[in-house]
Amino acid sequence: MAEKITAVKGMNDILPPDSARWEWFEAKVRALMARYAYANVRTPIVEPTALFVRGLGEVTDIVEKEMYSFVDSMNGDKLTLRPEATAGIVRAMIEHNVLYNGPMRVWSAVSLFRHERPQKGRYRQFHQIDVEALGFAGPDVDAEQILMCRALLRDLGIPMEHVRLELNSLGQPSERMAHRAALIAHFEAHADVLDEDAKRRLHSNPLRILDTKNPALQAVVEAAPQLMGFLGEASLAHLNAVRAVLDAAGLAYRINPRLVRGMDYYNLTVFEWITDKLGSQGTVCGGGRYDGLFEQLGGKPTPAVGWGMGVERMLLLLEAVGVLPPESSPDVYAVVPSAEVMPTVMAACEALRAAGLNVQMHASSADGMGSMKSQFKKADGSGARFALIFGETELAEGRVAVKPLRGEKTDAGQVQTLQPLDDIDSWAPGLRAAR
Ligand code: ATP
Ligand code: MG
Repeated sequence: MAEKITAVKGMNDILPPDSARWEWFEAKVRALMARYAYANVRTPIVEPTALFVRGLGEVTDIVEKEMYSFVDSMNGDKLTLRPEATAGIVRAMIEHNVLYNGPMRVWSAVSLFRHERPQKGRYRQFHQIDVEALGFAGPDVDAEQILMCRALLRDLGIPMEHVRLELNSLGQPSERMAHRAALIAHFEAHADVLDEDAKRRLHSNPLRILDTKNPALQAVVEAAPQLMGFLGEASLAHLNAVRAVLDAAGLAYRINPRLVRGMDYYNLTVFEWITDKLGSQGTVCGGGRYDGLFEQLGGKPTPAVGWGMGVERMLLLLEAVGVLPPESSPDVYAVVPSAEVMPTVMAACEALRAAGLNVQMHASSADGMGSMKSQFKKADGSGARFALIFGETELAEGRVAVKPLRGEKTDAGQVQTLQPLDDIDSWAPGLRAAR
């Protein structure tokens, strides 16, 4: 046998039966987006490297050490597999002048790539649901997006006691400059405890030191001056307006003055949804306002706000709290007693599917259709609620036998019935499971 080829480390195959959970989750997301009037967008997985360097900031974990970047061997272009969704969406909006007619709410389901150490809840290819409200300056949209997240958690059946919302304001650039000077002074005074990363970032991007995952730095980080103390009236008013909506909506949150996000483009509102069910990979959703990003990427000044939700972490959380998506089995399994009737059976199955049934048809193997016994075993294993038995005698009379497989009732009770194939609409819809 030829040598096996395996998937790239940290990149997962999503296969049955797990893929059913993904589809169920995605359907909930699509319904949510329709309810909040967010339109779907899809942008390329590969972007010019410069987009992320300029968009996220040169001194961020993602740009410094997590990007999959490569040179296009055809023309020498520097390209990167997208490590986050926002920069690409903003690029597309600017490039196609999409906001010409006014602001826009969009969402996207994306694969992202980051060269991190793979572990539970942390992968090198992962997935996010991403929402962005583009061209909106007011705090109402920040709050709307936070409430959307709660609505999704509810739709999924995740009890709110397992997640908490943390909120902060990063203020405006001028306020951050004043805070930055205070931060540098603080960290310089404690230079002896800083690690290499922190020392390098001290003058380029001291705010990033607050985002460190190094436990040895926690004490000095906790003692650092907080941005909240440098916020002006307008920034505080924006934060308070977001809080007023959340309060009125009965959504509890904690102000976490140390909450900073992994990209430099944020200002004013930032937030994270965190669970304690997933250890150190507990942040399931994070987002905030990024009013400066359009200009940074060559567009007109355009206020915006968005969040990204980790799909793998949400699915792990669902598992941890015991929420199981509904089984996805076919309604009926078509038993095909002989190869001779197969063309007729296939035609009948097409008609049944057109009538709204999910039909799994027994397929032949190299040595024929197989015994009835083995077909019924497969019918059972498929999870179908009914077997349709296309016996030759019944077919000759234009009928099919319907046999309940798991105590399901047909109109005639739990017994096997014969149904007419020329009037499928009179009985087939009754075999449909609730979906
Ligand atoms: P973390 O601090 O856990 O590294 P982050 O701040 O880098 O997260 P964001 O860039 O804000 O994460 O992405 C939003 C969400 O995407 C996270 O809250 C998380 O749920 C998910 N996520 C981020 N990185 C990964 C990854 N490598 N694997 C799986 N999910 C991830
Ligand atoms: Mg990260």
